[in-house]
Amino acid sequence: MTFMRMPLMGLPEWKEAVDCLQEDGSNVVILWTGGAFASKRFPITWDYNREHKNVKHDFVRELINYAHEKKIRVLLGFTPFGYDGVNQYAIEHPELKARKADGKPVDSFGIHCWGWSLCPSQKASRDFMLEYAREMAFEFYPNADGLLIESSDYNVCRCAECKEHFYEREFEFVRQISNEVWERKADATVVVFPHYFSGKKVNQGSDIEAKAASQPFDPRWTLVFTPHSAQIDGDLLKQARSSIYWNEGPSRGTPWSMKDGAKTAKRYGLAGYVPSLEPWSYVVTHEEFGESQLTGKRLKPFGLNWLRDGEMPLRDLLVRVQRAGYREFARNPDLKDEEFRRKLAVEFFGSEAKVGSVEDLLFLQRTVFEGRSWLSASPLVEPGLFQLKAAREKWDAQRLRGYKKRLEAIREIETKYQGASGKTEKEMQAIAAFISARWKGKEIAR
Ligand SMILES: [Zn+2]
Repeated sequence: MTFMRMPLMGLPEWKEAVDCLQEDGSNVVILWTGGAFASKRFPITWDYNREHKNVKHDFVRELINYAHEKKIRVLLGFTPFGYDGVNQYAIEHPELKARKADGKPVDSFGIHCWGWSLCPSQKASRDFMLEYAREMAFEFYPNADGLLIESSDYNVCRCAECKEHFYEREFEFVRQISNEVWERKADATVVVFPHYFSGKKVNQGSDIEAKAASQPFDPRWTLVFTPHSAQIDGDLLKQARSSIYWNEGPSRGTPWSMKDGAKTAKRYGLAGYVPSLEPWSYVVTHEEFGESQLTGKRLKPFGLNWLRDGEMPLRDLLVRVQRAGYREFARNPDLKDEEFRRKLAVEFFGSEAKVGSVEDLLFLQRTVFEGRSWLSASPLVEPGLFQLKAAREKWDAQRLRGYKKRLEAIREIETKYQGASGKTEKEMQAIAAFISARWKGKEIAR
């Protein structure tokens, strides 16, 4: 969970989120705390995130204790030399900016936290990185159970010194901070990416040119594999203390995305499945993911525009469908689809469930989450975004017809459950009515 991009959730909301994770059978959560704690040494790292409740009230230590009561372990996430919090350091130290191949500084970029990656060949960058990570892990949150160190992927430094050795430079940091964590807590979990060790090209098919490094592997590390940047490596896997698989299923897919993720984890013998659940609520300051209509606006978690600002998002009906997918398929990746539907029926509608109700619920979830960006729900939820995307991406008639059919089905759900008495039916009706009202007087052109 990219904690730093959820500024409106305070301790009460996060405790409830931990309750939800426990209900779903989770035993570990990664909280991305880079950029979201009030570092005393480097206030510039959170200046952009002043409204974040943890920057204001520093509750993560208490939250970790709460999670421990619920038998959930908490890892702190951050990226060396880049991303949230870290990339702000270049505001005060522009001389440390990562360089492009032509020697010019990289462009500013980010999600929520816009800044510049740092050049790891410079000692001042390495000193900053170590001190920042130490402050977070040892001074602010020493009760955490370890770290997730996400490797840099975009805008890595290509200066003369880093060029062929970027991941070796990054690895020196990873090695050092891992040692320091284990000195304090021998059984701490430190999750790292495989490309320091594999010697294979990073992020096949993307524009990332940095070569992976071939470093010795410490069997105390836990490995994380992801579909987009870290292919599963069987030889390396055998050496690791533990391993997790990640995908974006709960944030951007359907319950079947969690089935895919859990099955992949099982097939390769990985120990766990830790997908991303990202209810972002920050104010967008730069155009991100091409969604210019959101600049200057506050995001609704998962783009669910019917949520109130600050409302705990994990109990929304459609998020609960995703959570059910995570819970059931993580527990049993081979669960048959009809059995999953039966479980949904009992959980959401009680024993009297009609088959059509479960299908309507799954349809709503799919319609709102499929094709969503990290910022917005499906364009079907917001006609303004729909028109913007349809024009820019030149959607063809077939695609438009598909959306038109979905919009018609949403209007049918609005009517069908009008005056329904069941809790889930009422929530379904309210969501359908919300979307339908946004399209009042508008139609999808064929
Ligand atoms: Zn460099």
